[in-house]
Amino acid sequence: MARQTEKGAAAGAAVERLEDRALSRVLHHSTAQAVAKHLDLHTVGELLEHFPRRYLSRGQLTSFDELELGQEASIISRVVSVSTRSLHTRRGSIAEVLVTDQLEPSAQPLLPVPDAVPAPGGPRLDALAHAPAPDAASSSPGATMSLTFFNAFTAAKDLTPGDHVLFSGKVSEFRGRLTLTNPHYAVLSDLAAAGDPDEVPPPIPVYPAGAKFMTDRVSAAVAAMLSKVDLGECEDPVPADLRRSYRLMPAARAYEAIHRPRDEEEHHRALRYFRFREALVLQTVLARRAAALGRLHAPRFAPRSGGWLERFDAALPYALTGGQRRIGEEVAADLAADRPMNRLLQGDVGSGKTLVALRAMLQVADGGGQSALLAPTEVLASQHHRSIVSALGELAAPEGGLFEAEGVGVVLLTASMPAARRREALARIASGAAQIVIGTHALLGEKVSFADLGLAVVDEQHRFGVNQRHALGASEGTVPHQLVMTATPIPRSVAMTVFGDLAVSVLDEMPPGRQEVTTHVVSLAEHPAWEGRLWRRAREEVDAGHAVFVVVPSIGGEGNGGSGSRSRAGGESGQLQSVEGLSAALAAQPALRGVEVGELHGRMDAEAKARVMDRMVGGELRLLVATTVIEVGVDVPDATLMIIMDADRLGISTLHQLRGRIGRGSLPGTCLLVTEQDAQGASRPRLDAVASTRDGFELSRLDLEQRREGDILGSSQSGSRSTLKNLSVLKHPEIIEAARQDARRLVAEDPSLRAWPDLARAAARVGADEQTEYLYQG
Ligand code: ADP
Ligand code: MG
Repeated sequence: MARQTEKGAAAGAAVERLEDRALSRVLHHSTAQAVAKHLDLHTVGELLEHFPRRYLSRGQLTSFDELELGQEASIISRVVSVSTRSLHTRRGSIAEVLVTDQLEPSAQPLLPVPDAVPAPGGPRLDALAHAPAPDAASSSPGATMSLTFFNAFTAAKDLTPGDHVLFSGKVSEFRGRLTLTNPHYAVLSDLAAAGDPDEVPPPIPVYPAGAKFMTDRVSAAVAAMLSKVDLGECEDPVPADLRRSYRLMPAARAYEAIHRPRDEEEHHRALRYFRFREALVLQTVLARRAAALGRLHAPRFAPRSGGWLERFDAALPYALTGGQRRIGEEVAADLAADRPMNRLLQGDVGSGKTLVALRAMLQVADGGGQSALLAPTEVLASQHHRSIVSALGELAAPEGGLFEAEGVGVVLLTASMPAARRREALARIASGAAQIVIGTHALLGEKVSFADLGLAVVDEQHRFGVNQRHALGASEGTVPHQLVMTATPIPRSVAMTVFGDLAVSVLDEMPPGRQEVTTHVVSLAEHPAWEGRLWRRAREEVDAGHAVFVVVPSIGGEGNGGSGSRSRAGGESGQLQSVEGLSAALAAQPALRGVEVGELHGRMDAEAKARVMDRMVGGELRLLVATTVIEVGVDVPDATLMIIMDADRLGISTLHQLRGRIGRGSLPGTCLLVTEQDAQGASRPRLDAVASTRDGFELSRLDLEQRREGDILGSSQSGSRSTLKNLSVLKHPEIIEAARQDARRLVAEDPSLRAWPDLARAAARVGADEQTEYLYQG
C-alpha cells in the first residue's frame, strides 16, 4: 500500500500510464499497424487486456470432433505425411499435409495421401483445398484431416511427419470432410518430443483473432510487447493487503501469467486475481455511490391513524397476502425514516405488486407528500391509472379540481394527452392537489415540477436503466424514496452487482383464486394442420364472449420477417410474422368470418393504443393481434386465450410475461406457443420449459442459465473492454460478496480512496462510463 501511495504522488505529475502508451511506440511499426487494423487495439493496456480465449496444452492433440464448421479454430495436430505436387493451371505447387488427432500412430495403416484429383474442367484453386480419396471419408472419420498449403515450398520445409503443430484457420468443408482453409501453423514438436518428459510444457494461449491475424501472430505481438515494457509500472487496483490475504498475484505477474502461463495452475491463479479485481472495482463504485446516497435525506412519512391508508385497508374487499403484509411493513418503516428508501420489489406476474405500491403511496399522501408511479409504456400507465382510481373507490378525489378536494388526487400524465388536459394535470402536480401521479418514465423523467415528491415507484424496472433514480426529483441533499418493482426475479449476486445496496423484497405468494392457465407448444413443423385449429379455437373463445390475444414478434412493413419461412393462413410468408400481415390474413380466415381483428403495436400513437385497449377491456373488441408491447401488465380480465406466433423468437421471460396476460379474471386460460421448429429445434427446450411451469422464479433460473453475461448486465458491460470480463455474476457470487465487503470497508475508512490511488482511478473510469444499465429483457 505504501508503494501505491508513492506512485500516486508521482502520478500527480501527469506521468503517462504504462497502459496508455501507444503500441506504435512499443512494437515494430508493421506489427503495431496490423494489431490496430485487425484487432482494433492501440495501447499497451488494450493489448494487455486482450486475453486468450482458451489454452491448449502441448503434448495433447485437439480432437477433430470439437471443430465446428465456419469457426476460427486453433488446434494441435500431429503431422502424418507431407506431399507436394505441381499445379496444372498455375505455376508453382501445393503441399498437402495429412494430420491426425491421434497421439500414437494407429495400428491400422493410415489413409493414403490422395493423389491430385483433377476436377472436371480444370481445378479451381479453392476446390483444391482438400481432395481426399473417395474411400477416405468412410474409414475412421475425424481421425485425419487433409490440409492444403499454397506456400508449398515453405510448408514442406517446415512440417515433418511426427511433428506436433499448432494450426489456426477457418473450419471449412470439402467433399463432406472438415478441413482448415490455408491455415497458419507453428511447429511445437521440438517442445513436445524433446525436453524433460517429467516437465509439463506450458500451455499455448489461443487468442480471439481475426481471420487475417491468427493467434500465433497475436502471441508474437504480445511477446514482443512484454519484452519491451516493465509490467511493474502497471496499475494495480487491488490493495496489497487484500492481495496478501487472498493470496493473489500482483497485477504484473497476473498479466504475465495470463499471456504466458507456465502451467495451468498459474493461469488459474491469474484469473482469480482478475476476477477479484473486477469485482472490487465495481463494488467500490457502488460502495461510493451508496455512501453518497447515505448522506442524503428523504422526507419522513410516518403512518397516520385515521388516514387514507387505514381507510383503504378497511375497505379492501380481500385480505392482503402474507407477503404483501410483510413487505408492506418493511416499506412503511422505510418511509418513516429520513434515509431514502431504495427497495426492489420482486414478484411474479400477478403476485399483487401494484397493491403494495398503492399502499405505500397512500402512506406518503397521509404525510402530505406526493408519489409518482412510472410505467414503461403509455398503455400501462393508463391502465394503472384506471385500476388505482377504481381500487380507491370513494377515497379518490373527483377529477378536475385544481385545489385541495376531499379525497386522494390521482392524475395521469401522458405525452398523448390533449394540451389543455395536460396543462391541467401539470398544474395539479405543481400545486400538490395530485397526490398520486401516474405516467410513463419518459414523461415524468422530464421537468415536471412536483410540489412535494416523496416517493417514486418504478414499475417493471427491467425495462429501465438503473440510473433513472437520479433523474427524478433529486434536489440538493434530499431525494424521494424509491420503490422499484419487477416481475423478473434477480439473483442476489446480480442485484448486488447491478443495484449495489438496493434492499430486496420478494413477494413469493400468489393471491388466492388465481386461474389455471394451460400452456402447449404447437409445432407447425410437426403438425401443419394445427394451424387451422388455432383459428377455430380463437373463434370459439370469441363466440363465448372471451378476449383473445395473438402475439407476433414484429410489427411488419419493414420486411423484418425472421426465421420462419412457411406461408401461413394462405398469405405470403414474412408478412405473416408481422402484426399487419397476420391481421390481414386473419380477417380473411373463414374460421374468423365476422370477427373484428384489432391491431396493437409500438408504432401506433399512444391515443390509438389506449383506444384499442379500452375496447378490449370494455368487451367491444375480442381479438387483438399485437406485438410484445402487451407484454407487461396489460389487464383484460376476460382474456382466455393467448396465441404466440414464432414463440421461438422470444426469450423465456418475455413468454412468461405474455402468458401472465391471461387467466387474470375469473376464467381459466390457454396459452399456445406456436413455432415452426420441430422437437429438435434449438429453441424447443425454452418453449418446453415455459410450457412446463408457471413458476416465474423457476423460469428465471432456467433463463439465466442460458444467458450470457452480457445479456444480463447490459451492453456496456459485455464488450471486449468491459468492466466484467472474467467475472461472472452468476458463477462467482462468493467473489462478489467478498469484494463488496472489502469495498465497503475501504470506502468507509477512506472515502476519497487517497491511500489507494490505483483503485480510485479504476473506479473513476468505471463510474465515468457508468452505464450499468439493467437490460434484463428476453
Ligand atoms: P402484478 O404483481 O403482476 O403487478 P397486480 O398487482 O396486477 O400483479 O395484481 C394482480 C391481480 O391480483 C390484480 O387484479 C389485483 O387486484 C389482485 N390482487 C392483488 N392482491 C390481492 C390479494 N391480496 N387478494 C386477492 N387479489 C389480489
Ligand atoms: Mg404489474
